[in-house]
Amino acid sequence: MKKTIQNIEIEVFQGDIANLPNVEAVVNAANAQLTTGGGVAGAIHRAAGPKLYEECKPLAPIAPGEAVITVAYNLPNKYVIHSLGPVYGKDKPENKLLENCYKNVLKRAEEKKVKSVAFPAISTGAFGYPIKEATKISFNTILAEIPKLKHLQKLKFVLFSEADLEIYETMLAEM
Ligand code: ADP
Repeated sequence: MKKTIQNIEIEVFQGDIANLPNVEAVVNAANAQLTTGGGVAGAIHRAAGPKLYEECKPLAPIAPGEAVITVAYNLPNKYVIHSLGPVYGKDKPENKLLENCYKNVLKRAEEKKVKSVAFPAISTGAFGYPIKEATKISFNTILAEIPKLKHLQKLKFVLFSEADLEIYETMLAEM
């Protein structure tokens, strides 16, 4: 499903963030040490190859809400933007920290003149953020940032499960 808001194309679809050939930058739902692991980080590091971690090592640790950018090695993209989401119920205030993730990813992308970026649902896996609340924060943040974008033209949201996709589609339709 796609929607255009102030000349920015917003798309939500089901897929694997580690296999998206038609996007310039993909977002890693990273851990503080920027290592591989489960979920999105595992998929991205496996597909990118070990050089990704070599580039990440000196950039770690990062704090919740921060984002750092690297190249993408064996992934079919140019960049990976690594952002650490808040652990729900632990890192406070979690809504602000999640908002910072989306803002800082857009900042890193704009600094490199990136035209398209794909986000996973940050913090909604191992970090336990309820998907509906997290979706609201991600869309509200994106909406507020759209007027500031100069290079980005496409913002994509990749959901792993059908159920998560439905939530994103419902909220995008209401936007
Ligand atoms: P976090 O630690 O920030 O919660 P996770 O990687 O555990 O990050 O999960 C974030 C979201 O990404 C979850 O909704 C999960 O279902 C989803 N996810 C897991 N693997 C992938 C993948 N390969 N591509 C896209 N989304 C994924």
